[in-house]
Amino acid sequence: MNLDLRTMMVMISALSLLFSGLLALVGLHAGDSRGVRQWTLGSLYFGLGLAFSYTQLEPPANPWALVFGACLTLTGTGFQFNGIQVFKTGTCNRYIPWLLAGLAFYQNIWFAVLHPDIHARVIANSILFFLINAASARALFVPVEQPLRTAYWLTASSFAIIAILFLVRAVLVFLLPVNSYWLYSQIPLNPATFFIGSMSQMSIVFGFVLMLNYRQAASHQKLASTDALTGIMNRRSLEQEATRLLARCSRTGETLAVMMIDVDHFKSINDRYGHLVGDQVLRHLTAIAENSIRTGDYLARYGGEEFCILLPASLEKDAWILADRLRQIFASTAIECGGEALRSTISIGIADSVHTELKFNSLIVAADKAMYRAKQDGRNRVISHSTHAYA
Ligand code: GH3
Ligand code: MG
Ligand code: MG
Repeated sequence: MNLDLRTMMVMISALSLLFSGLLALVGLHAGDSRGVRQWTLGSLYFGLGLAFSYTQLEPPANPWALVFGACLTLTGTGFQFNGIQVFKTGTCNRYIPWLLAGLAFYQNIWFAVLHPDIHARVIANSILFFLINAASARALFVPVEQPLRTAYWLTASSFAIIAILFLVRAVLVFLLPVNSYWLYSQIPLNPATFFIGSMSQMSIVFGFVLMLNYRQAASHQKLASTDALTGIMNRRSLEQEATRLLARCSRTGETLAVMMIDVDHFKSINDRYGHLVGDQVLRHLTAIAENSIRTGDYLARYGGEEFCILLPASLEKDAWILADRLRQIFASTAIECGGEALRSTISIGIADSVHTELKFNSLIVAADKAMYRAKQDGRNRVISHSTHAYA
């Protein structure tokens, strides 16, 4: 491979410094930017460390440039590892970059200044680079939901390639005749290491940006589908879920029941106790409903004080049992409000796909009608669309 090593080194160094700026900008405008600070520092230290190597035009090397170059690049790689930890968990082992800096300083002083031995120095540095890059790869090769997994595994593969490169480099330098190695020797090992290494460094930074991007997309998706007050699905995501469920039902012949819940005289609760207490009542109802439904049922806030539950593989009579339990629990549990016990009630309408049709709008209209019938009949009751007779 006839590549100019010094030009490559300058390019990687300059690119790393540019990436550091890019990551800083990404962090500035990302809502959840966990890990970006460490990755910015990582690229900065890495780029500065490589810049030191460019000073090594001819052997013999300036030993102090070697020492600082190795310390900075290893600290930078340690920061990249810290960034991954912070991205995943919010915390990191802060000592790792400084431990690497200490080890790099110690071994490079030893093998570059006190007892110059270029082979031992390259092997020792390569082992440290191997270990920290392998640790980063391992931290990212984990099962995680898509699309984050693509970004994790792309970045992990790049770290793994660098780890393998350094391992191979350590072994090959060990096998070379004593003192025959030099950073810019035109032996195939060097251009290959520089080229593949720099490509992998680039793809690591792209991987980080992709990880941030996918996390942002996921959090926007969550925001768009969640009700801010109660934390459950909003109407929009309920409709999406219903479309998916209805397609499944028409494929498998499964039934679907729908429950519409409305808080009775909620306006007067707001008027009497204030909107914050009204909000508390809605959260209270949500908690009770969440505890009452089965896994596989879907609870959503449909509108102001109206909630909707989708019950797959259920009929009106199954839904009625759940609805009446919910009604009773809600009516019997009070909310503490300024020393006063506040009790409230709900009215529930039920419909199913057997007595209406397998269409979301028809089910909602039917459950709504039943719910208004429950209101007319005196509230605090459950009414099924088909019979009006379960309550
Ligand atoms: P009914 O028994 O007939 O259902 O009477 P109601 O008072 O519950 O019915 P209405 O639909 O008139 O009142 C709903 C009220 O819900 C009106 C609105 O101010 C209130 N509301 C809607 N969203 C929220 C919210 O997020 N928080 C609070 N506190 N109130 C809300
Ligand atoms: Mg209402
Ligand atoms: Mg109401």
